[in-house]
Amino acid sequence: MQELKPERILFIVLDGLGDHACKELDGLTPLEKAYSNNVKKLKENGSQGLMDIISPGIPPSSDVSHLIMFGYDVENEYFGRGPIEALGEGVELKEGEIAFRGNLATVRFENNYPIVVDRRAGRITSEQTKELVEYLNSEIECPEGCKVVFKPLSEHRFVMIVSGEGLSHEVTDNDPHAEGKPILLCQPIDEAKDRKGAERLAKIVNEITIQAIDKLSKHELNKKRAESKLPQANSILVRSAGTMRKMKSFQEKWDLKAACVAAGLLYRGVAKAVGMDVYDVEGANGLLNTNIQGKTSKALELLKSYDFVYLHFKGTDVASHSKNPIAKCEFIRRFYESLNLIDDAVLNTVTIVITGDHTTPCDRGMHTGEPVPILIASKGLRNDATKFFSEREAVSGGLGRIRGKDIMPILLDSIERTVEYGTRPSPKKINYMPKSLEYLKLSI
Ligand code: ZN
Ligand code: ZN
Repeated sequence: MQELKPERILFIVLDGLGDHACKELDGLTPLEKAYSNNVKKLKENGSQGLMDIISPGIPPSSDVSHLIMFGYDVENEYFGRGPIEALGEGVELKEGEIAFRGNLATVRFENNYPIVVDRRAGRITSEQTKELVEYLNSEIECPEGCKVVFKPLSEHRFVMIVSGEGLSHEVTDNDPHAEGKPILLCQPIDEAKDRKGAERLAKIVNEITIQAIDKLSKHELNKKRAESKLPQANSILVRSAGTMRKMKSFQEKWDLKAACVAAGLLYRGVAKAVGMDVYDVEGANGLLNTNIQGKTSKALELLKSYDFVYLHFKGTDVASHSKNPIAKCEFIRRFYESLNLIDDAVLNTVTIVITGDHTTPCDRGMHTGEPVPILIASKGLRNDATKFFSEREAVSGGLGRIRGKDIMPILLDSIERTVEYGTRPSPKKINYMPKSLEYLKLSI
């Protein structure tokens, strides 16, 4: 059979993939324990290595990690997690609006300080959150001539959108991220580029929070909740401020038509922010019992009409945060089963990447700064002599140790789209061959 050149890219992220050796898994990592013939086939056609998303020792959050892997300069092109999560939830934001993620919470009062008793107000129902949030919309007077709108999400969650002149999103959370602690004072961050704007927004957030506590405490629903011995939703906690800005699309950046298959809202938000088309799969839920086979199958189908398909699984990170290496291993094993859908025709024409967005070791249950393993199977790249795909085997892999921002150039190289450094087939300052070029015509 004639060997074909890969033209398309399947980019698979198993969230929080990297791990430590676990005693529950006979001293292996979940990735090592799950190894099977389905991934062996990819390993034999590829190279592995270790990847520092930012730099060694720095744990990335998932949103930042994905944007770096997609080739974005987060220092200059990213404006915060609030709008990304709001987009993922389907909330439409206008350019320049500032979005916060928020919770309805329960507080008690001690010497004039509201102390957080329950960060989720007893996981209040979506219906009650809607009622309280609409009440806040009608009652709260936003200071400084600005405007505030609350949008209810599922359970205790909401998005708070602030808009007005001269505001900067560079402020701290008021959410202490722990129970038993007082609500934090919202302040400008030290490195704020627009300090005045950040001071203005911080003042607004603090005033809104004081008003919200007052209004919510008087609401009939909270009186009823108190009578039924349920935690009152008598405060708001807000975090992750960000300004909605139109980002350069992935297609504009790399000249690759891109689609996303993800159920987790944050990942759908990242994909939407960079202009990828986001697809749903029945039974996909961002949890351990998601429809893995269905997602892999959908991603392969999309490769017929897209150049780049981003396929995300959250289950690995879910298991890691609950410190369950057996569940993590089982999730990877089920994902490997779904690779039976990858046949020689796919291997010959698609560059396939399997990696994580950070390491979340089950023994620590949190993101760490250790590098993540990455496997790239492609007919367009050398393969290496390592035996199986794992964190420890990756140390001697052919990719060596790369950074998150190196991925896109490597992938474009694998599909033969790169040009020699310094050559200029296009007026655009890019190091790859754009799909459409301007040609000289003899009869002008
Ligand atoms: Zn993640
Ligand atoms: Zn995580």
